[in-house]
Amino acid sequence: MANKRLNITMDGPAGSGKSTVSKLIAKRLGYKYIDTGAMYRAVAIRSHELNISPDDDTGLEQLCKTVKVEFVDGKITVDGRDVSVEIRTPLADGLASVVSSRAPIREAMIALQREMAQVGGVVMEGRDIGTVVLPDADLKFYITASPEVRGERRHKERLAKGEESDLNQVIESIRERDKRDSDRKLSPLKPAVDARIVDTTGLAILDVVDTVLREIEEYKN
Ligand code: C5P
Repeated sequence: MANKRLNITMDGPAGSGKSTVSKLIAKRLGYKYIDTGAMYRAVAIRSHELNISPDDDTGLEQLCKTVKVEFVDGKITVDGRDVSVEIRTPLADGLASVVSSRAPIREAMIALQREMAQVGGVVMEGRDIGTVVLPDADLKFYITASPEVRGERRHKERLAKGEESDLNQVIESIRERDKRDSDRKLSPLKPAVDARIVDTTGLAILDVVDTVLREIEEYKN
């Protein structure tokens, strides 16, 4: 067991700190880090570029037959084009949240995500990884924090990148996305029944990483 390469899922709402935690955990364990939100963002950008409306299931289905979403050297590409920067804009936030509720998109992305986890040794982060994508994962975490704290984190990230940001607007947009992600019929945002819940409100991210790593070590031994 000690040397088994585990599949670990990290779900939770936007701004909960799950990306930072997942990346650091993957690095410490020598596992592959898979950001499924980036995949939805990339395919959403591609559908927008091709003028496919989010209501057009036939158009989305056609797109999914050929679209190639890949992680290459820490970057994400869609049909060979690096979209790593483009997927982080507020426009992409909104597009991804809408397009990801559509069945053809979810089916295609979930199939791809399962393929990526087949070899084992992955830390996969998203909204439905523990509930739908990898229900048999070895260890599941659900990382959360209050909307205010999550909004503040996003706001600071944007300012640090030199972008304009309005804290109240960021919090409001986080609440909207939470609602859309939690209320949707397919793969709604919720903890798996066997997930370990970690509330990061008031915690430093590095302390969260230590807690999660300790739980992983305990599980392995
Ligand atoms: O995690 P991130 O904020 O980058 O995800 C972008 C959007 O993709 C989310 O708002 C959510 O709607 C969607 N998503 C999803 N399922 C996942 C990961 C992300 O529906 N596993």
